[in-house]
Amino acid sequence: MEPQEQPVHCRFISSLGGTRRCADPAYREGFCRFHFEALVRGEILPNGQIDEHLDDQHRRRALNYHGVPAEAQVPSAEPPQR
Ligand SMILES: [Zn+2]
Repeated sequence: MEPQEQPVHCRFISSLGGTRRCADPAYREGFCRFHFEALVRGEILPNGQIDEHLDDQHRRRALNYHGVPAEAQVPSAEPPQR
């Protein structure tokens, strides 16, 4: 149980495009506090990706956008919902 390489930043990988990552500092398990709690809730997977079975769009959006720099947020990256 020895941590090998602790990432400085959260290793959550947004599903918005594959290159967008959370910029928050790591809290536990390599995730920031927000995404670590999501991990505990089973909303994201240990590999840092969002759980495909999470069908709450608002929650997915919150997870995807948390910690992502504003300039990286492209509205057209997700299908319009209205
Ligand atoms: Zn995060």
